[in-house]
Order: sequence, then structure tokens, then C-alpha cells
Amino acid sequence: MPINRLKHIAKAAMALAVAGAISASLNDASAETIVDDAALADPKQADNWLGYGRTFNQHRFSPLDQINVDSVGKLGLAWSLPLPRDRSLVGTPLVVDGILYFTGSFSRTRAVEAKTGKLIWEYDPEAMKHAGPDRARTMWDSSRGLAYYKGKVIIATVDGRLIALDAKTGTPIWSTQTFDPKLPLHITGHPTVFRDLVLVGNGGSEQGGGRGFVTAFHVETGEQAWRFYIVPGNPADGFEDEAQEMAAKTWTGEWWKIGGGGQTWNGFTYDPEYDQILIGTGNGSPWNRKARSPGGGDNLFLCSIVALDATTGKYKWHYQTVPGETWDYNSTMDIVLADLALKEGEDKRKVLMHAPKNGFFYVIDRKDGKLLSAEPIAKITWATGIDMKTGRPIEAKGARYETEPFLIYPSAFGAHSWHAMSYNPNTGLAYIPKIELPSNWDDTAVNLKDWKKPYYDLDVAADIGLGGDIPKDAGTSSLLAWDPVNQKKAWEVQQPNFWHAGTLTTAGNLVFQGMVDGTFAAYDARDGNKLWSINVGHGISAPPITYSVDGTQYVSLLVGAGGVGYSIGGGSVMAQYGWAYGAQVRQLLTFALDESKPMPDVGKPAFVEALTPAGFTPDEKLADRGQHVYKASCVWCHSAGAVSGGYAPDLRASETFLDMEQLKKVVHDGTLAGNGMPRFENLSDEDLNALQHYVRKQALDTKQPPSN
Ligand code: CA
Repeated sequence: MPINRLKHIAKAAMALAVAGAISASLNDASAETIVDDAALADPKQADNWLGYGRTFNQHRFSPLDQINVDSVGKLGLAWSLPLPRDRSLVGTPLVVDGILYFTGSFSRTRAVEAKTGKLIWEYDPEAMKHAGPDRARTMWDSSRGLAYYKGKVIIATVDGRLIALDAKTGTPIWSTQTFDPKLPLHITGHPTVFRDLVLVGNGGSEQGGGRGFVTAFHVETGEQAWRFYIVPGNPADGFEDEAQEMAAKTWTGEWWKIGGGGQTWNGFTYDPEYDQILIGTGNGSPWNRKARSPGGGDNLFLCSIVALDATTGKYKWHYQTVPGETWDYNSTMDIVLADLALKEGEDKRKVLMHAPKNGFFYVIDRKDGKLLSAEPIAKITWATGIDMKTGRPIEAKGARYETEPFLIYPSAFGAHSWHAMSYNPNTGLAYIPKIELPSNWDDTAVNLKDWKKPYYDLDVAADIGLGGDIPKDAGTSSLLAWDPVNQKKAWEVQQPNFWHAGTLTTAGNLVFQGMVDGTFAAYDARDGNKLWSINVGHGISAPPITYSVDGTQYVSLLVGAGGVGYSIGGGSVMAQYGWAYGAQVRQLLTFALDESKPMPDVGKPAFVEALTPAGFTPDEKLADRGQHVYKASCVWCHSAGAVSGGYAPDLRASETFLDMEQLKKVVHDGTLAGNGMPRFENLSDEDLNALQHYVRKQALDTKQPPSN
């Protein structure tokens, strides 16, 4: 019997035995992979998928090649696991010695046999219960993943807890609240492990979450090791360190009163070669710099890559991709490590690659943060290029919407969002899910002098791509293969719509990617030729992984479209495919060669028909006010224009909106808080009335279901 087989049996058997599912006599602990820094730094470790980007370098590249350009045509479904309680599935599973671990909605965590899909244990952190009916309003049910380190599975919950579980049983070992629960923050990101520490950030720039920060905790105990702030506090209170003092010089006005933002919700890479943790930081809060830092300034450390000493959390260097950001241009996208010779005959340099929202692809020296090259991967109208002498963008005239509205590419969804790119060291190419979409920025009607939170939409009217005076056909996307050495496109596959999932690349010369229309496809990594595809019956937002058990290579992914691009702006995009709330059952699907299990019945496409009762005529003025209420409160889950597309119920078809008394109970009193519908006690009767008129108007405007 091969060693792998023994390892698998031993591991699975131990887990099952402790979980009480069966008793087992096999117990060979010595065969287990110790998941520590050495294992996470080893790209040759082929069978497992140990970390978010597989190994520390975040390549999302696997050396496995059983599934390759010649054999991929024989790929079929090996097993599926239905996930009826889940909704938004965006996570990267991990595989350790034949056990697959993943987080679903609200960080519900499961361990399954990677060969069969059989459930070993399940842990529900009950995030909504912990969040309570008020904080629930800052919640999303997305979790991008989990960490595994020395026998512990570590998850982060949307309500801000970091929880260590026994990998064998799913039993909690410790739990730590990582931020003040009174703050409107949330965690959707994966914890990052290195040097016996686990690092986690949070999101909330859009909800007025205050100063962004990252915190490292000891893996063994859950106790805090260090914290680094992305935005400096009130100078009168003194600074935490010299980096904060330096950053404060780049802010103006009284930014600390609204906090500044910079929340770090994704994009953490441990760099073992320089023993540093690289942090990709978020956008400003509020978006509009005029409201946030009225005298201008770069506003460090917003939209930057910050390198911190991994042991102490002390600042080492930073590179800011968007000085004085004012377009929601997060730099929280993934940070990929490589050794590249950038010029003929030159020695290889230790670089990082980064494609943030702003549309440029950066190659940066990891030693000191020096910019080595940067070129646009997408249409860009906010800047005309990067000045290589200063490393700063050359901004286009009028791009800060100083005097009039400005149609800006990329949109606030970015040319590249959190959907991870992969990097194949054999082809030398990065595979990027790219978005071409503009936003129309306009603050001419905004009272910037009296800017107030939490009415976020008042700082700027940022109409994202799908309505307003932006052409309906403005948005496209693609799978882009980018050559980072020559900073140019190798190939590109055009795709409809946007918000397609992150990529996986392999030594079989393949690139795998899922799309919002339910297509899961494999392409030739060398030329983009589509070699295989399957329809999985629902939109895909999660990136695939690959691993091997008993000599068989598997490809696995979560199916269940989600994330904020889906909820906030993409409702009408998703609705056209028939993705509707409660209509499709989410799945974990796993494929292998020569398998041909039938695809699970996930539910048919469902097209929502808006309710338009006779006798209700929306008042234009009320509807206009209601739109502001909607954008400040409802849009995060129910999507733009009240066309849901399935992330949350479609309000145009909601009976609740026909009955003001019922509407008040649900929205103001929070009677459905247990289902994930937050309480909005701040909304007055007038607000609710206006909201009703807005939703009824949307229902009338869109009452015809799509014809396709
Ligand atoms: Ca943002």
C-alpha cells in the first residue's frame, strides 16, 4: 500500500474516531504533515493545499500534472456535497493529508474526506447570534478562507472573532474578539499564519469603521502579539510609533474624527526571505478625500503595500499605489512573491507582484519597496501612467471630480478585485480575473462641509457602471494572462459581464476559472485556448484548488455566487441568469479524470417577477429620498436598483413592501434579525415611507421579467 494511502487512512481514521463517528484501529501519527513555516514555504509539497495561496508565495500554482492539457478533456465530477444553508461562497479550501477544510457562509467550517466528500466534522461559530441585530447591518456572509497551522484550523468570523479549532475534531481551543464589537467592522478575509502567529485584518471603510489596523495573535493561546494601524490617530493623543507620526504628516483637517479608513480585509502575504509580512491596505473612509482630508495630502497608509517586521509588527517600508485616494481604489488585492530577472542577463530579484483596483500591475522590490515597473492592465482614465522617478501616478486632469463629474475607469469594483490571480513559474505568466467597468464620480450636489456618517452615499455619488448615464454596454471583463517581466499581455479571453472568480494554474499547463454564469472552465496556460468546461448550475465566485490523494489528482471548488460585487452592484447581472434568493442549492464540487458522476440538481434558474398592485402610484419626490435611504442601508445586500440577483430577497417582489406596518416591524424593529436581516433603528417613519415609494417605483420600472 502506498505511503499516501496509509497517511490518508491514518489521518481520516483519527479524525473520525475522535469525532465519534467510528472507532478505528489505524493510528500512524508519524505520517502526518506538520503544517509549519517550513511546509508553508515549500512549493514542492504537491499533494496538499496548505494555505490561502497554497504556499507562502501565494502562487495558486500546483506542481501536480496528472490533469494536463492532453488529459483535461476526461475531467468529470468525482463527488459533490450540497450546502443548503449556505449562500455567498467565496472561500479557498485547504487540503492537508487527504482532509479538505473549508469555510462557507458566516464562516461555518467543515472538514470532509478529500477523496469522497464525506463530512468529518462541522463547526458553526453562530456569527449572526454573536453580532446581534444592530451590528448585523455591517455583516456579509462571505468568508474567503481559513488557516491551518500545527494541528489547528483557524477561522475568522464576520463579527470579529478569531477562533482556533482542533483540526481533528473541530472542537474550539480558543476564541478572541479582534476588535471593539461596538465598531461597525467585520471580517470576511482569511487569517494568515507565520512564525507561530496568526494575523487578521477587517473591513468596514464603507460603514465608517474608523482607523484601519491589522493584529497578530499567538497561535498557541490566541493572545495578542502586536497591532499596526493603517491610519494615524489624533496627534493630541500621541502616536503609537514613528510610522504613525510620519503618516500623520500626510493628513489634513481632523481626519481622526471620522477615522480615515484603510481597513485591511484581504491581501496579506508572509515573505519568509525577508521575514516580513506584507499588508495590502484599503481605501479611504469616506471615499471622497475632500470630506476626509480637506487640505489634501497622500493619506498614508491608505491604498499601500506596507511591509512589517513579522516578529514585532514594526514598520519596515511602504509603497503607496494611490496617494490621496478618492475613488475606492483599495490595494487589498493579493500580493504574489517571485524571483524574477527583469532584464536580459540581470540576476534574479526578489519581487512582489500586485494588481490592485487602480488598473496598474506593479512589480516591486521586496527588499525596500522600490518600484521596479508598473503598466496598465486595463482601461485607465484617472491616471496617464506612473512616473518611475517618483513612483507616483500621473493623474489625469479633472480625475478628482474637482469641478464636474468624471467618468472613471476602472470603477470602484476595480480592474482587479479580491478574486485572486495565480502565477505559473513555468509559463512565467500571471492569470488575472480582469474587469473593464467605469464609475461616474460626482460630488457637485454634496454638502462636503457638513458631511455626516453613516449616510455614506452623501460623500459622493459614485454610480458604478450599471445605471445612471453610464452606457449599458460599458462593462466587460476578461481572463488576462500577464507577463510581469515584460509588463505586457500574453493573451486575453474576453468574457461577458463581470465578477468572475479567482484562478488556479498548474504544472499541467492549465488555468482553471469559474464564472458568474455558472461556467467552470480550463484553459491552456500558454495561449488561453479553452480546453474543457462544464455548467455547474449556479454562479461561481470562489477560486478552485487542486490536490492529490492516493495518486489521484482532484480539482475542487465552492459554487454559490457571492461577495459585495454580486450583492451591491451585480444584482441585475446575476438576475439575468435566473440566480434568485433561495432558488439554487450551493455545492462543493470535486472533479477528477475518468469520473462522470451526474451533476447535482441544484434547482432551476428562477426569474423574479416584481409585484405591482393597482392603486399604488409612487411619489417621485419620496422615491428620490427613498433612493438615498436605500443606498445607505439596503444596497449592501439587496443590490443596486432593488434587483437582487439572489444574494438577498428581491424587494420588488416582497409582500413586506406592500404593508407599512409590516415594513416597520422587519426593517426598524428587526423581527427577521435571526434570518440575517439587520435592524435599522435609525430609520424614521418618513425614511421608511420614502423607502417604500422607491422600491415600488423600481418594481414598476422593472416589472417585466427578463426574456432570456
Ligand atoms: Ca472599499
